[in-house]
Amino acid sequence: MQAARFHGPEEGLVVESVPRPDPGPGELLVEVGACGLCHSDLHLLSGELPVPTPVTLGHEVAGTVVETGAGVDDPAPGTPVVVYGGWGCGDCRACTRGEDQLCNVLEWCGIGADGGLAEYLRVPDPRYVLPAPGLDPVAAAPLTDAALTPYRAVDRARDHLGPADTVVCVGVGGLGQFGVQFAAMTGARVVAVDVDPDKLALADDLGADATVDASTGTVPSAIRDAAGGEAAVAIDFVGDDDTLQWCGNVLDTGGRLYVVGIGDGSYEVAFNPLVGAEIAVTNVFWGSINQLRDVLALADAGRLEVTTETVGFDDLAATYDRLEAGGVAGRAVFTP
Ligand code: NAD
Ligand code: ZN
Ligand code: ZN
Repeated sequence: MQAARFHGPEEGLVVESVPRPDPGPGELLVEVGACGLCHSDLHLLSGELPVPTPVTLGHEVAGTVVETGAGVDDPAPGTPVVVYGGWGCGDCRACTRGEDQLCNVLEWCGIGADGGLAEYLRVPDPRYVLPAPGLDPVAAAPLTDAALTPYRAVDRARDHLGPADTVVCVGVGGLGQFGVQFAAMTGARVVAVDVDPDKLALADDLGADATVDASTGTVPSAIRDAAGGEAAVAIDFVGDDDTLQWCGNVLDTGGRLYVVGIGDGSYEVAFNPLVGAEIAVTNVFWGSINQLRDVLALADAGRLEVTTETVGFDDLAATYDRLEAGGVAGRAVFTP
């Protein structure tokens, strides 16, 4: 089969023929219908997040079960599925509560194990596929990360948001397009921030109450004006020094900052402890299997807009370049 394999930051991504995986006992084989191109792949390709190579990239996968290994009866071949990518050991404390993405074996799909930029994907356990009948694979693939991760961020923020509060979403790309929608579902005021007017127009369509163009002016005061004061919650889908600084500067006392973007791989959040009291900062990592069920339920009910463009093997390198330059609207999704 054809697969897009990462051979290290020097050689980059190579589309090549590799053997089609053979599912072992307890495993399954999924024919890839679609796989989202995540900004995290850029952090892998640059070497910022070191991974064992060679490895087939791609951690946002939808497709069809085509073979099952010994002992797997369910789901049966022919079942359309999405793949939960946070593969773990299956029995540590994190995995036992369904938060396999927090397991420290680091065998995540397309990161520590071969992923979905290929014709077929080996999935190590049936718990990592969820039936997705009736969903178009191109729209379904981004649900497994681009939607799941913001869903987790908003899920954690929900208790801190009422109708009189503001949630600030910074970065309206692949993840942020869903972040704005989930934030709007809480009933709080949503302020979306990006450097690209087209992304801000999308945020407006997706339910943002106000938008801030971060390419000009003093961003924190523009956010405060748009919010009508300080914000209860900020979710940073960029995570670089500037955006973290803006978020730290606009939060109210007791505010919560959820950092999703990976920035340059480390976080420094500066705020004045004498001004913003008891601000809590946490990163957010991917999502749980049950949170993916929630996201699928929202998609099934037609409550999520998914903005995508479709690309093939030949377009991968150019599309990653465009993603790096901020030139993708919503999610670019690969189909084999
Ligand atoms: P993306 O490239 O699709 O979107 C990034 C968006 O941020 C774009 O709209 C861009 O215009 C905007 N942006 C860039 N710089 C900005 C700035 N200074 N101010 C405001 N907006 C700015 O990326 P994505 O796939 O949505 O991923 C976003 C980040 O989240 C990446 O760092 C990615 O690695 C990370 N990520 C983290 C997790 C997790 O589990 N924590 C999961 C997936 C992705
Ligand atoms: Zn990702
Ligand atoms: Zn585990």
